[in-house]
Amino acid sequence: MRKSATIFAIFFSLLAAVPSGAADAIRLSTVVIDAGHGGKDPGCVSRDGKTYEKDLTIAISKSISSKITAAYPDVKVILTRDDDTYVTLSGRADAANNASADLFISIHINATGTGTSANGFSVHCLGQSSKKGNDLFSKNLELCKRENSVIFLEDDYKTKYQGFDPSDEQSYIFFSLMQSAHLGQSLEFAEDVERAMRGGPIKNSRGVSQDPFWVLWRTTMPAVLIECGFISNPDDLAALRTEEGIDGIAEGIFNAFSTFKKRYDRENAPAAGDKKEDKAAPASGKDKAPESGKDKAAEPASGTVYGTQVLAIGKKMKEGDPFFKGEKFFMVEGTKINRYLVGFSTDRSEAKKEFQRLKKIFPDSFFVKAENGKTVLDR
Ligand SMILES: [Zn+2]
Repeated sequence: MRKSATIFAIFFSLLAAVPSGAADAIRLSTVVIDAGHGGKDPGCVSRDGKTYEKDLTIAISKSISSKITAAYPDVKVILTRDDDTYVTLSGRADAANNASADLFISIHINATGTGTSANGFSVHCLGQSSKKGNDLFSKNLELCKRENSVIFLEDDYKTKYQGFDPSDEQSYIFFSLMQSAHLGQSLEFAEDVERAMRGGPIKNSRGVSQDPFWVLWRTTMPAVLIECGFISNPDDLAALRTEEGIDGIAEGIFNAFSTFKKRYDRENAPAAGDKKEDKAAPASGKDKAPESGKDKAAEPASGTVYGTQVLAIGKKMKEGDPFFKGEKFFMVEGTKINRYLVGFSTDRSEAKKEFQRLKKIFPDSFFVKAENGKTVLDR
């Protein structure tokens, strides 16, 4: 017993002696929960006029917040509002960006204009899907228009949102160029949420999809928007009106958060690739990724590559695509998502130097280490 305790002590002191920098633990430490609508913006209203979306979103958000705080006292939880106040869409994104949050969760309630049969919850992230019929514009455009239309409540929306008109379909075309570097993690979390909410108080799952929500576009971290149920459906509304219903929805989202955090912390654990490589990199079979990325992008043949991740997307991008602004890219091929690095090199310090330049050109980019068909954060 004593002996093993000593061994542990030595082990931990060795751990502590690992040089800082790459070996620093990167943990999910800040999450922003965004209660949709508020103040002069009620969001959707129940058919009898008694229940407002803004009240449900704040109740769910607060419940998620207290569950996270209780389970993870070290995690900072930021609510974009904690009372019935009006917050602009850009204010919500700014709150998350300024806090350098690791995850953004936007809470909403759905509704249909006519009829009462549409029901269930759905989880959304931004981006262009590789799956047919799951793409931008093809689905949920009315929903996006409605959620984005809160922009109209701002007096100066025309200048502030650079001409974006939430009601105009043409306006959505510009989203197709605005892809996210964080799509991989956003999708993973969206799937965690979808799974965790199944069997909860809102019975029907409408699945995960990728849609042009403005607030998701402007956040520079993994971000999802959850439509927790339909206020226009009697069964969903009955659940949303009870404390157990609110708690059950929050519990599902909290469980998804736990799953995501565990994975996030594990994948970004210090020196994960150094000694326990076999354990830390179960993504075998994807190792051919560096080769295919090599086609035109020259350089690294295999092993570890460092670079600035600027894009994660289902489809394969072509060299010279305007998205990359003249930068050569290196593609890390995954099963669902391909991740694109610019300023890449097998030499960490060289790639890091490039990152200083590139982060000004690609504001939501981040520095990663690519290995075995995956990328992990490297700060
Ligand atoms: Zn909403």
